[in-house]
Amino acid sequence: MTKLNFDNRLIAELPGDPDPRNRVRQVHGAAWSAVQPTPVAAPRLLAHAPALAARLGFDESAVASQSFLDAFSGNGLLPGMQPFANNYGGHQFGHWAGQLGDGRAISLGELVNEHGERWELQLKGAGPTPYSRSADGRAVLRSSLREFICSEAMHRLGVPTTRALTLVGSGEEVVRDILYSGDPRPEPGAIVCRVAPSFLRFGSFELPASRGETELLAQMVRFCIARDFPELTASEPAVQMVQWFNTICERTATLMAHWMRVGFVHGVMNTDNMSILGLTIDYGPYGWVEDYDPAWTPNTTDAEGRRYCFGRQPQIAHWNLSCLAGAIAPLLEDHEPLRDGLQRYAERFNAEYLRMSAGKLGLGNLEDISLYSTLLSLLQRTELDFTLFFRRLGALAIDELRAERFAEISYSELSLMRHADEFNRWLADYGQRIATEGMTDGERRQRMGEFNPLYVPRNWLAQQAIDAAERGDLQPLHDLVAVLDDPYSEQPESQGYAALRPEWARHRPGCSMLSCSS
Ligand code: AMP
Ligand code: MG
Repeated sequence: MTKLNFDNRLIAELPGDPDPRNRVRQVHGAAWSAVQPTPVAAPRLLAHAPALAARLGFDESAVASQSFLDAFSGNGLLPGMQPFANNYGGHQFGHWAGQLGDGRAISLGELVNEHGERWELQLKGAGPTPYSRSADGRAVLRSSLREFICSEAMHRLGVPTTRALTLVGSGEEVVRDILYSGDPRPEPGAIVCRVAPSFLRFGSFELPASRGETELLAQMVRFCIARDFPELTASEPAVQMVQWFNTICERTATLMAHWMRVGFVHGVMNTDNMSILGLTIDYGPYGWVEDYDPAWTPNTTDAEGRRYCFGRQPQIAHWNLSCLAGAIAPLLEDHEPLRDGLQRYAERFNAEYLRMSAGKLGLGNLEDISLYSTLLSLLQRTELDFTLFFRRLGALAIDELRAERFAEISYSELSLMRHADEFNRWLADYGQRIATEGMTDGERRQRMGEFNPLYVPRNWLAQQAIDAAERGDLQPLHDLVAVLDDPYSEQPESQGYAALRPEWARHRPGCSMLSCSS
């Protein structure tokens, strides 16, 4: 393996936990704890992301080496790695939850590649840490495979995200009660190595703030700006901190617009699951909107309140940003700029949402959102598949736009027919609008193809890969990864991946029902 350059700034520059013992506890006055991954019995590399590996400096022979497998299963370290777990807190479902921290994530170090990019490597499921609370520090294959697939798929979709380098089977079993129904069972364990320039979360700043550890808080903000936001160069610290907050607001706004564009539901938007870089992070009970419904959430734990349902995500992000604002407020004399930052969030989100919605319709711009929001309400009533609808809309010529042409991509032909008149009126309005833009069908289709993916990692697709992987067959996983590698292009041999949810998946755990049990 060629020499890798680790530059572990977080542990070098922020105060660490002085207690070296790996036992569960509250950790005060420190941003991290040194901890070693717990080795596993029989690791096996189930999948890796070749493009990301290459970017990080691992060629295919390095990926095939024993030392690579050791490092990414938690059985060994590569030279320069210094493992640690992050300390953070968070608001969970609207309530302050206190210290959470990396209960099963262990960062291995910050790799600086040949392009000078910094990539923190982090194992998820590598054993207990001081932050494990009552849990085991492990992860099951099903949730790890879901994280691996979706991280890389999101990247290909153009949505900011943490990446995933490897999926390793641990050769050990992990006991989980999938639906919290009093039926715990052993399942195969796995470890994902996820990768991002920074794993700091809103909750990383909320925890010291909640404890009145103002000096630590200030140090963390300074560190985050210096390492993760080097472009913010204001010389006055208060001004720089406001720039920092504004940038986080803007990036989070862009992220939310992307989620709404591709139909992604995160499922657990707690403040500990909000990346300071505006990346999608912590893939758990996520899902993809199919029969369009803004109130839908894949997370059964949230089925009652629907706090984190699809349509609420932009509002929740705003709420989460206000928690971050509250956390850093003690560092600023004047709080007005933080209110301005939150206002910027709303402005940026509205602008990006309008831009992306226009793109989804193949239009250069939209003066207002009503053409799009009327459509969404119709998609819901006609039970059309969100992803397939936009591709079909783009594939049909303007003079072919009739409700019945969408029958194959509705989950209920009856509902489609019931609302056909209204739907036809919308299609006619849309056709008019396209005509005034003077766009050809080809131009429109091309523009729509840039905003509307054809292939997304629908839960039932991931579940098929999981079922096979649990039987020892990795081919469906590799096939799915290959399709999702190019989500905007027609792949004629992959029709089955761009299809309505099959009936068997409607009530199957892992497809329509997911919990945080992972
Ligand atoms: P999540 O809902 O996955 O964001 O996790 C919330 C908190 O619980 C984080 O502090 C996690 O590190 C921790 N956690 C989740 N699962 C486990 C586990 N199996 N072992 C230890 N900690 C866990
Ligand atoms: Mg989390």
